[in-house]
Amino acid sequence: MEKDKILVIDDSAVQAEYLCSILSGDYEVSACYTARDGLAKAKEGGYSLILLDVVMPDVDGFMLLQELKSTVLTKHVPVILLTSLADVQYEERGLLLGAVDYVAKPFSPVIIKARVNTHIQLYHYQTEFREQAMVDGLTGVPNRRRYEAESIIKWQEATRFGLPISICMMDIDHFKSYNDTFGHPAGDQTIVSVAQTAAAHFRRATDLFARYGGEEFVAIFMGNDGPSAFQFLKTLRQAVEELHIPHNSPVSQWVTVSVGGVSLVPKVSDDYHTYLKLADTMLYDAKRFGRNQVVWCNENKDQLRER
Ligand code: GH3
Ligand code: MG
Ligand code: MG
Repeated sequence: MEKDKILVIDDSAVQAEYLCSILSGDYEVSACYTARDGLAKAKEGGYSLILLDVVMPDVDGFMLLQELKSTVLTKHVPVILLTSLADVQYEERGLLLGAVDYVAKPFSPVIIKARVNTHIQLYHYQTEFREQAMVDGLTGVPNRRRYEAESIIKWQEATRFGLPISICMMDIDHFKSYNDTFGHPAGDQTIVSVAQTAAAHFRRATDLFARYGGEEFVAIFMGNDGPSAFQFLKTLRQAVEELHIPHNSPVSQWVTVSVGGVSLVPKVSDDYHTYLKLADTMLYDAKRFGRNQVVWCNENKDQLRER
């Protein structure tokens, strides 16, 4: 297993090296001697813990701590403050600003090690928990919570850079009767297969595909203009049908999905939720027009449909 990375930020090189010598057996330790360097290094990411000296000449530890706690990339990384015994009021302030702990100088190597071990372990639990909270338990694809947190960011990026963006909703056809015929456990397995097929279809780094709930899925993807987004969604629908999961719905002998999509280059005045709803309306139309098909539109609501 790879060693956890620890960042030491202390203006005293002697102190920093001492910490390194205590911890480098179990951890990969790097040191910075100014707040500025420390912040830059922390933002590179990958650290499981930061040891931060409170009293430094240029920018003090508190300002750096505040900066670390308000930066997306670093805010979850635990910070232990290094203080001298006389600095009780510093400890209070540091803990209020979000430090997880403090260690008083002069250090006891045993205490330092124990506290570092504890906080790194807690950090791993917390990271695991955060990730679990964003993943759908049945299928392993992103869940609705993650979709809601990230889709809006993608929308804003597309708006800022003038990129085409598409939203799609997908729902398994006649799934109630699938459960009735094959049983709920088989239904679960089918949801997993459909989810994984679709997740593999949305394979660009900027794509986001999620389980929205039940047998319904949602995706947001950038860069395709309208006709190519429609084409892309048609191959998605086809990929699901070609899993050849037996069903005996009025639509097909296989499990199928209906897909609704919308593409546009969003303007600042466009509201994301309006278009999410429009994708849902297109899905509703796909169901209404006979299921197992894609219905897509652009911002003018010009519709394209399969077959
Ligand atoms: P339509 O083609 O109009 O979408 O018909 P439908 O039967 O799929 O639609 P409806 O929304 O009436 O039913 C959805 C069904 O999906 C009902 C529910 O039992 C089933 N379902 C939802 N979540 C799960 C799940 O996690 N596992 C299983 N096995 N079934 C689920
Ligand atoms: Mg359905
Ligand atoms: Mg449904």
